[in-house]
Amino acid sequence: MYKRIRVAAIALCVGLMVLLGRLPLLAQTSVPGIVAIGIGGAVATVDTEATRIGIDILQRGGNAIDAAVATAAALGVVEPFSAGIGGGGFMLIYQKAENRVISIDGREEAPAATTVDLFNDPDTGELLPFTPNRISSGLAVGVPGTLLTWTEALDRYGTLSLSEVLAPAIALAENGFRADPTFVSQIRANQERFAAFTSTRDLYLPDGNLPVVGGIFKNPDQAKTYRLVADRGLNVFYRGEIGEAIVRTVQNPPAIENPPFPVLPGRMTMGDLDDYDLHIRTPIRTDYRGYQLYGMSLPSSGSITGGQVLNLVEGFDLGAIDRPAALNKIIEAERIAFADRAAFLGDPEFVDVPLPGLLSEGYADLRREEIGVQALGGREARAAAGNPLPFQRDPSPSLTETVAATAIGDHEGVSTTHLTVSDRLGNVVSYTLTIEATGGSGIVVPGYGFILNNELTDFDPASPHPNSPEPGKRPRSSMAPTIAFAPDGTVLAYGSPGGSTIITTVLGITTNLIDFGMSIDQAIAAPRLSQRNGGVTQVDSNFELTDLGQALTALGQVLEPVPEIGAATGIVIAPDGRITAAAEPNRRGGGAAMVVRSPT
Ligand code: GLU
Repeated sequence: MYKRIRVAAIALCVGLMVLLGRLPLLAQTSVPGIVAIGIGGAVATVDTEATRIGIDILQRGGNAIDAAVATAAALGVVEPFSAGIGGGGFMLIYQKAENRVISIDGREEAPAATTVDLFNDPDTGELLPFTPNRISSGLAVGVPGTLLTWTEALDRYGTLSLSEVLAPAIALAENGFRADPTFVSQIRANQERFAAFTSTRDLYLPDGNLPVVGGIFKNPDQAKTYRLVADRGLNVFYRGEIGEAIVRTVQNPPAIENPPFPVLPGRMTMGDLDDYDLHIRTPIRTDYRGYQLYGMSLPSSGSITGGQVLNLVEGFDLGAIDRPAALNKIIEAERIAFADRAAFLGDPEFVDVPLPGLLSEGYADLRREEIGVQALGGREARAAAGNPLPFQRDPSPSLTETVAATAIGDHEGVSTTHLTVSDRLGNVVSYTLTIEATGGSGIVVPGYGFILNNELTDFDPASPHPNSPEPGKRPRSSMAPTIAFAPDGTVLAYGSPGGSTIITTVLGITTNLIDFGMSIDQAIAAPRLSQRNGGVTQVDSNFELTDLGQALTALGQVLEPVPEIGAATGIVIAPDGRITAAAEPNRRGGGAAMVVRSPT
C-alpha cells in the first residue's frame, strides 16, 4: 500500500511539473534506436515496445529492478516465443550503493517423478527424436521459475509492486501490438507443431492462417493471467488456478486429434510447483586484463565456460597480434573450454563440479600449451576434456573423476532474450530469460495465453553424466548475463540469446570491448564466431567470404555460415555517468535501445 501511495505521489508531482513546464526530462527522452547515448538510466531489448515500457518505469521513478521486471513482462507479450512466465532465466543485479552483484537462479526444474530415461520412447526404449517429439511434449516442461524471479527481485531490490510493473504489459496484451516480420516468421517456423495443439493453433494460427505482418495482435488470455497474478500474487501461479492449468496441460497436452507426431505427457504435479524455489547464488567472477567480470554460476555454464576461455586467451596479447591470429586463439580456447563443459558441468545441487580447478590459473596455463598457431584440425577435430582435479583448492575427491569426456549433442537455438537496464542511481540489471526453443514446447496453456517451456531438453539424455535428468534437478544452461567493471570504473552489462552460442557471443562481445577497442554498439554488431568443440566454427552468413574469414580458413578453421547467432543487447556506463545503450542492428529484426535523458 505504502508503495502505491508513493507512486501516486510521484505521478502527481510529475504531472504538475509537466504542466508547469518544469520537466525538460520527458521532452529529452531518446527515441528508440540501435544505440542511444545519454544519462539517467537506459533500457536495451530486442523490442521497441518493451524498451519503451522499461524507460517509462524509470521515468516514473522506478529503479532498474522495477524496469527490468516490467520490460521482461512486456517481452512475454511481444516476444512470447522466446520468453514468458512459462519459462525460466538468470537475473544479475548490480546494486551501486551496496557495491555488490547479486545473481538469481530462476532456472526451470525437473519434476520429482523425473527418471533418467526421461526422453526414451516408452514403447521402444529408444531416444525420441529431438524435434518435434522431445521438444513438443509435456515431458520437456520444467517447473517455471520466471514469475518467482520477478517477485523475488521486486521484493528484495525493487521499489514498485508487482501490479504496478505488470500494468503496462497487461495493457499491451489487451490492446495488442503490431505483429512484426520476426513475430510472424517465428510462427511460420513452428507452424506444424503449433497447429498440433488446439490452444496454440487458436491463438497463433487463427482460422489456420498466420497473423498478418503489421496487423494488431492481441492476447486477452495473457492479459487475464497477468491480472490474476497482479491481483492475487504468486500463489495463484505456484499453488492456485494457473498452476492447476499448467499441471493439467503438462499431464494432458491439448493435442489435436491425430497429431502429426506422438505427443507425450509429462509428470509435473502441484507438489512440484509448490516446491519450486529460487537460488540466490554467488556470482562467478573472472578477472581479465584488469576488468572484473561477473556472471551466473551453475547450473549455467555460461560464465564458467566463458571464464575458462578468457583465462586461456589472457596468455596471448590479442590486441597486439593480427586479427586472424587473435580470433584463431579464441576459437581454439573455445574448443578446450567446451570439452570441459561437456565433461564436468551440471546442477551443483547434484554433482560435485571441480570449479576452482577449472577456473584456476594453473589449469589455464597447462591447457594453453595445447593452443598452437594453426587450428586443431578439420571438421572432425575435437579437444579432449582435461583433468582440473590437481588444481582444486578443495582436496576432497570429485565424483566427476571417472566421467568420460564426451561432447553430447548441443541443440543450440536462436531463442531466448536478453534485456539490459540501468537507472539514475547507477544500478544495473542484466537478465537473460527463456522458454528454451523458439516457441518453447509449442504448448499454450489453454485459457491462459502463455507457452510452456521445453527446458528439460537441455539435459544430456545419456547417463551417467553430470547433466543427466534427475528429480528436482536443473538442466545445465548456457545463459551468460554479464556485468563487468573496467579498471577506470566504467560499468558494462550485456548478454545474448542463442543456446550454447550464448557463451561464444558473450565472449566475442567481451574480447571486442576489451581486446579490440570496440564500443558496445560495435561489439554487438560485429561478426560472430562460435566454436563449441564441434569441429566446424559457426559464423554469420557471408563472414566466411570476408578477408578475415578467408584468413581463418587459411589457418585451418572450417567455417560454417548460419543465419543467426545471438541477438544481444548491452549498456556501458562511463565513470561520469554517461550511458551508451545498444541493441542489435539486424539480427532478429533488430532491437531497441533508449536512455532516460539525451545529453544536453
Ligand atoms: N535453453 C538454453 C539455455 O539455457 C537457452 C535457449 C536458447 O537461447 O536458445 O542455455
